[in-house]
Amino acid sequence: ALTIGIVGLPNVGKSTLFNALTKGDALAANYPFATIEPNVGVVGLPDARLARLAELYDSQKIVPAPVSFVDIAGLVRGASKGQGRGNAFLANIRDASAICQVVRAFSDPNVVHVDGKISPSDDIETINTELILADLQTIEKALPRLEKEAKVRKDRAPVAAAAKAAAELLNEGTTLYGGRFDTAELGELHLLTAKPFLYVFNVDEAGLADEAFLDELRSLVAPAEAIFLDAKIESELTDLDEEEALELLASIGQPEPGLHQLIRVGFRTLGLQTYLTAGPKETRAWTIPIGATAPEAAGVIHTDFQRGFIKAEVVSFEELMAAGSQAAAKAAGKVRIEGKDYVMQDGDVVEFRFNV
Ligand code: GDP
Repeated sequence: ALTIGIVGLPNVGKSTLFNALTKGDALAANYPFATIEPNVGVVGLPDARLARLAELYDSQKIVPAPVSFVDIAGLVRGASKGQGRGNAFLANIRDASAICQVVRAFSDPNVVHVDGKISPSDDIETINTELILADLQTIEKALPRLEKEAKVRKDRAPVAAAAKAAAELLNEGTTLYGGRFDTAELGELHLLTAKPFLYVFNVDEAGLADEAFLDELRSLVAPAEAIFLDAKIESELTDLDEEEALELLASIGQPEPGLHQLIRVGFRTLGLQTYLTAGPKETRAWTIPIGATAPEAAGVIHTDFQRGFIKAEVVSFEELMAAGSQAAAKAAGKVRIEGKDYVMQDGDVVEFRFNV
């Protein structure tokens, strides 16, 4: 499952954000969400195309692409040495496909900071240091075995070499993702900092309006992506209807909820895209990796579709909308017949033909 793990120091707004995410909001009435466990929630990828497609096909329901979030509490300074809940959270992080780090950048004298001062760069360093130390422990533990294997098996030499190089980078205080380290050889070690990272800065209203401040925060985490939102306002949006929510967002200069951005960026960070299917029963978004071929995309619906794949009838969402109907798009020559080598594009509206 595609799961984004939410980490961060205590009191930075993780739970506030998680609750806002999973409680859903007025602007995503069509998106189902569910809280599977107290700390796991499934959220639909916001996609304005779905409602328009559903209208065209008079679909009974809309099924967006799901993204799971897990609120991983307990990451504190010294966690890798057993402080707080110690290593308990590490298993949770290992299961996540990407790491979303929430960083406090709001000031509020009523909310205590664990280290007594608000410093986004220090907080990021604290969290990343714990993850880096955990990875160094993993590598140190595995290295004697990897080196022994490298001596007797040629194909194991690159693994040992990559582990050593990774340890060097980590010792400099750089995460493997942040350092753009090629971790292709190291999959078996399940290193935490090899996962894609994204950063959510929990900013107050004044901060959101201060471009120079946001640029400064952005530069702290580049090349990783940064999202800026006010978790308190995001949680207030969940109690409003659509019109009120848009008004509140407009009043702080935001065109959409920060949570929508977060879900989208999370999706992109994972290298994913969606294609669409539509009919009277449902309009639905399906998740595929960027670069997936038509049979691979069919396999996401059902493995039989992949095995028996014959061809795909494909029209881009924009061309379908411009034509006004599937029949009109066909008449205009916009519906393409694609074979097994076709590389799917985001927003393709597809009908598969297959043998069963
Ligand atoms: P967590 O420990 O990271 O999960 O943090 P919480 O979400 O529990 O938030 C800690 C405290 O900070 C709570 O009292 C929240 O109401 C408050 N808080 C969270 N986000 C914001 C924010 O954006 N602005 C302000 N002023 N307070 C916030």
